[in-house]
Amino acid sequence: MSDLFKDEPAQAPKEQHIDWYNAFAVEKLGMPARWRWFKLEVKNHGKPSMFVSVTGAVCDAKIERGKRKGQDNWKLRDKATEAELAIRVEELDAFKLEWQARTGKCVRCQGDGKVMWSVSVSDGVKYRDCEKCHGTGNATKAVAA
Ligand SMILES: [Zn+2]
Repeated sequence: MSDLFKDEPAQAPKEQHIDWYNAFAVEKLGMPARWRWFKLEVKNHGKPSMFVSVTGAVCDAKIERGKRKGQDNWKLRDKATEAELAIRVEELDAFKLEWQARTGKCVRCQGDGKVMWSVSVSDGVKYRDCEKCHGTGNATKAVAA
């Protein structure tokens, strides 16, 4: 019996990072946690009134055939949950700091202590210590933004 496959492949740090637009919109709109944006538009770019228009919905349907099989089928999204929200940069920054205070995790690396450094075909994904919390992942060690 071959033991070629007995070793687990090396695990990279998890990439399940928070999408801040989703997190903010779910909270503000009172939507289910699986609500996701599908359209982002920057409005009034470069002006003090600049904001990001975020449109999303709950989409549980998958494409059943063809090259995109298994991907989300946004045509069949739950229209009852479709909503658009204007998010200002300052609002999102405040939301991130609130998250940091609530979780005790560094907002930059989201508690991992590592941030992505580079991605290449030959070397894969490389990480380095988060410069904000000095690799601790801890909010109390994090320096101000
Ligand atoms: Zn950090």
